[in-house]
Amino acid sequence: MSNYDPSLLEQWDKQYVWHPFTQMQQYLREKPLIIERGEGSYLIDVEGNRYLDGVSSLWVTVHGHCHPELNRAIKEQLDSIAHSTLLGIANVPSILLAKKLVEITPPGLNKVFYSDNGATAVEIALKMAFQYWQQKDGGRYRRKTKFISLVNAYHGDTIGSVSVGGIPLFHNIFKPLLFECLHAPAPYCYRCPLSLERESCKMACLNQLERLMEEHCEEVAALIIEPLVQGAAGMITAPDGFLRRVRELCSKYNILLIADEVAVGFGRTGRLFACEHEDVTPDLMCLAKGITGGYLPLAATLVTDEIYRTFLGEPEECKTFYHGHTYTGNPLACAAALANIELFEKTDLLASLQSKIELLRRGLNKFWDLPHVGDIRQRGMMVGIELVVDKETKEPYDIKEQIGHRVILEARKRGLIIRPLDNIIVLMPVLSISKEELNRVLEIVYESIEAVTGK
Ligand SMILES: *Cc1c(COP(=O)(O)O)cnc(C)c1O
Repeated sequence: MSNYDPSLLEQWDKQYVWHPFTQMQQYLREKPLIIERGEGSYLIDVEGNRYLDGVSSLWVTVHGHCHPELNRAIKEQLDSIAHSTLLGIANVPSILLAKKLVEITPPGLNKVFYSDNGATAVEIALKMAFQYWQQKDGGRYRRKTKFISLVNAYHGDTIGSVSVGGIPLFHNIFKPLLFECLHAPAPYCYRCPLSLERESCKMACLNQLERLMEEHCEEVAALIIEPLVQGAAGMITAPDGFLRRVRELCSKYNILLIADEVAVGFGRTGRLFACEHEDVTPDLMCLAKGITGGYLPLAATLVTDEIYRTFLGEPEECKTFYHGHTYTGNPLACAAALANIELFEKTDLLASLQSKIELLRRGLNKFWDLPHVGDIRQRGMMVGIELVVDKETKEPYDIKEQIGHRVILEARKRGLIIRPLDNIIVLMPVLSISKEELNRVLEIVYESIEAVTGK
């Protein structure tokens, strides 16, 4: 039990805290869940209740909560120093981590620029891509100032990253503040924007992308994409070969490719990075979420030598990248990230993941029997279960129904914490989860969907 009085904490939470992506009026009506401890795949609340962590604490936890080696790495670093700046000087863990990141990411990404979250990693990639074209070859390409992103994309919540985002529910209100962005169709095959079938479409949506590129390549700096899975859009999984083709088109039309691996990176798709599945090297790559194993805020934007070199010059040439966050390269976070990567190697996590991915796939098959499960999408350890009013017409539930929210409250009663995206139930188990725990997650989710939507 907690050292604090749980009812007092509930009262103060409601009195003082404004929660992100949360309708507080709804939140205030419900009993808050207050986490106090973590253990492996479990979260434990102030009343001592144990819950499986079914979304890796919003897509970050890798080796489990309270892992002794991650704890030790941070404590050891803490005894040396908690923070020193990277503005003009260096620190030990950030050097070691940068070397490691260059070694483990796709070949060609040789420089690491740090920040502290996914949105800033994206913001940095956008600004670098923009400035690159301003400075390349004496300004020959200065007209390349625009970006292409996919419909339904999510790249974070700062104004720049929202500008390349495409989720109407989150982004519409901010439209007047955003810079212009060109949107290409997303491979949302369940609700194909071209009304085609995945089996026979030959990825016709890519022809639209190519036409967009053909028309605008002179003014486009970069295309940004979430490789293989559009996460926040509802775990929209791209067909095999889609990413590869996007890479080819970017090269053909002289457009930089920014891979936002914030969600898919660090093992979620079954490989260390999603780009590896299709042998793709982006020009810029954004990492965050799983980079510290879910311990501390840290992000990195990796770039090629070609981009880096364009920023070199004498101070008076003003080619410097004038961007930086105060906690850039924080030593505690970098130490956690190093320990996280070492654990991948030591435990051979990616190898052990393959049979869990298969278990998840087989377990999910059964969900097709449920009358309101319209689509099930899985890539590695990332899952989206789309609930619909009617399977035939694919009619979505109205937002008023709060169908996803009701399902996750049922799951909570049964000892599982998940968080939906609108009508889509998301599963993103901790990568170190045991098969028994994974089976339990599947059982609870099945029962919870059944309890809310019927048999
Ligand atoms: C979560 C996410 C971000 C934003 O990361 P934050 O750390 O929340 O700023 C960016 N891109 C993708 C693909 C994400 O899933």
